[in-house]
Amino acid sequence: MRIVMLGAPGSGKGTQAKLLESDRGVPQISTGDLLRTAVAEGTELGLIARAVMEAGELVSDAIVSAMIKERFGAADAAGGFILDGYPRTLAQAEDLNGVLGELGLELDAVILMDVSTGVLMKRLTGRRTCSKTGKLLNIYFSPPEELAACRDAGGELLRRDDDNEEAIANRLAVYERQTAPLIDYYRGRGLLKTVAAEGAVDEIQARLRSALGLA
Ligand code: AMP
Repeated sequence: MRIVMLGAPGSGKGTQAKLLESDRGVPQISTGDLLRTAVAEGTELGLIARAVMEAGELVSDAIVSAMIKERFGAADAAGGFILDGYPRTLAQAEDLNGVLGELGLELDAVILMDVSTGVLMKRLTGRRTCSKTGKLLNIYFSPPEELAACRDAGGELLRRDDDNEEAIANRLAVYERQTAPLIDYYRGRGLLKTVAAEGAVDEIQARLRSALGLA
């Protein structure tokens, strides 16, 4: 399985990709996660990426495409991958074509996670991670007992550095300007499948599997 998850920040690409990963045994590859690791480790790349990410802007195409190329070389990606957050520009989509072409591979599908702007805003402004359990929560959507469980475990509800209002507005604008053109790009190649991505996580996962023709 070689698929791309496309959608605005907060559309649930990561959540759904992780579920698919554990079910199908193909790795979710998130450029956002790879960049956050580089920032946390304080590597040269991390130092370059940090300010760009905090402002909600895009890291350069050359950097992320090189990261992806390297990641494809890892053993766990030999049987396929679920790309989450890459490509994000037309130039990255062309880079991806090039890398896959060199490897003699093709994409099976590009999934568009379709979510209204109002829901995106609540998902992003409400998104938290429990410092103790690492569980991804939302102050608007998570059951109160799950939020309480984090506090009871002695955890704090942490916000991602780029989940502040200003950066969120910018990330959504950047998505519209730079990433949304990929919808027509992949539709034109006959790869696009749209999934209604509002509602319960397991319902969305069921829609995603049916869009991919999985049992
Ligand atoms: P994400 O976790 O996918 O929301 O990504 C967080 C941030 O990492 C984005 O707002 C960008 O600053 C950066 N980033 C992640 N993926 C890419 C990409 N494919 N191209 C450029 N920047 C990216």
